[in-house]
Amino acid sequence: MNTSTADHKVVHYGGCHCGAVQFEFLAPPNITVIDCNCSVCSMSGFLHLIVDANDFSLLSGDKILTSYTFNTQTAQHLFCSSCGIKSFYIPRSHPNAYSVNARCVKRGSVTRMNIEAFDGVNWEESIVGLRS
Ligand SMILES: [Zn+2]
Repeated sequence: MNTSTADHKVVHYGGCHCGAVQFEFLAPPNITVIDCNCSVCSMSGFLHLIVDANDFSLLSGDKILTSYTFNTQTAQHLFCSSCGIKSFYIPRSHPNAYSVNARCVKRGSVTRMNIEAFDGVNWEESIVGLRS
């Protein structure tokens, strides 16, 4: 397998339902996303794609984004105050990165999506495995 081809990054676009929030980011076309079972992710159906802060740029919507925090207050759960969709946020697991909701990525740039389960209910134990 030619790993240099599989690992190359392409531009992906994403945003919220009403279109006020739009962003672009770099990631491989074959992405691995995290399906977390914690209280907030299971309610929203969020599929996490962790993107380095340098590879992410918000194109529009900074004024319309609202943040919600709970528990440790580390994660900044950003959602569109118009349509309510959480298309990306700053996760507790990676404070210097963005977590993009793979469900909010525009079609066409993702060729394959692998979904991995993350036991967010037992966050402290699970994060050790994610970071190793
Ligand atoms: Zn919106």
